[in-house]
Amino acid sequence: MDSTDFGESIRHVSAFSALAEYAESSPHNEMDYKMTGGNSRLANEFAERVGSENIKLGALVELVEQKRGTVRVRYRSSDGVAAGTETLRADAVICTAPIQSLLKIKFDPPLSPAHQAAAEQLVYARISKNSVVYDERFWKDEDFSLVSDLTSHYYFHSTQGQPGKQGILTAYAIGEKADVFASQSDARRMRIVAGDLRDVDERAPKLARRIVSYAWQRDPYTDGAYALYKPGQWFGIRPILQRPHGKVLFAGEHLADWQGFMEGAIETGEAAATALIRQGS
Ligand SMILES: Cc1cc2nc3c(=O)[nH]c(=O)nc-3n(C[C@H](O)[C@H](O)[C@H](O)COP(=O)(O)OP(=O)(O)OC[C@H]3O[C@@H](n4cnc5c(N)ncnc54)[C@H](O)[C@@H]3O)c2cc1C
Repeated sequence: MDSTDFGESIRHVSAFSALAEYAESSPHNEMDYKMTGGNSRLANEFAERVGSENIKLGALVELVEQKRGTVRVRYRSSDGVAAGTETLRADAVICTAPIQSLLKIKFDPPLSPAHQAAAEQLVYARISKNSVVYDERFWKDEDFSLVSDLTSHYYFHSTQGQPGKQGILTAYAIGEKADVFASQSDARRMRIVAGDLRDVDERAPKLARRIVSYAWQRDPYTDGAYALYKPGQWFGIRPILQRPHGKVLFAGEHLADWQGFMEGAIETGEAAATALIRQGS
């Protein structure tokens, strides 16, 4: 059950990260909170405040170059017809690329050998989410969730509090189970996810209508769900990954005190921005 928190068995997790997850004093689990209206509201609100004219989508950074006090960021644009390479110049940069993506970016001057070695050691969790629409909500309880020892691993009710006869249960699988799902077709994934529910209701496979799946370990821009600090790594490689590289500062979920969560990611971004503002004043 705990492995859904980390994305791998707790046996592989830094004791400090595991303790931080469970020794929290708040009576509420952060998973108790949902964003009313959907999570994209957060990104949309950021876009509004930053100004969408200041945001470049579909821009894959390939090179971060520092020369004579200026940082140049070269990116490949996949924006419609204007595909090609472009460059931005800045006084400083906050880089929030997940570590596997960071390793694909060329830095000139290169990252220090310690930084490069730390990045190469950090792995990311394998997580696959498989949401199946059923013609009927056979699970009855609004707050239905279930941990199983089957491939589907963990189920939760995704249409909780929403009207309608049909409903969605999401199967959230980690580690090897996530890799099994990632290797299947949608049809077979749906057979596994609905079939694993036969002990709850034998009609589940017949009621299953459609599946939408995502495996973060196959995402080419993150190569995983979130960072997984192994024993010894929290105090070993994390402080190295947090070090600035000249005028390039680093932020993101993988560097956060509250690692693995949006709030943590945002806090690291705010800390990096504050550091830049202080340097400039
Ligand atoms: C299955 C799952 C469930 C989760 N559940 C929760 C939850 O319930 N609550 C919670 O708070 N958090 C949850 N999280 C974690 C949350 O999604 C992350 O902590 C958060 O998204 C991290 O933000 P970030 O900006 O650091 O990284 P990301 O959101 O990974 O953003 C990094 C971005 O960098 C882009 N990128 C990569 N390479 C390049 C490049 N070369 N050039 C340009 N862009 C690049 C990527 O495309 C990506 O958009 C969950 C994550 C997963 C995978």
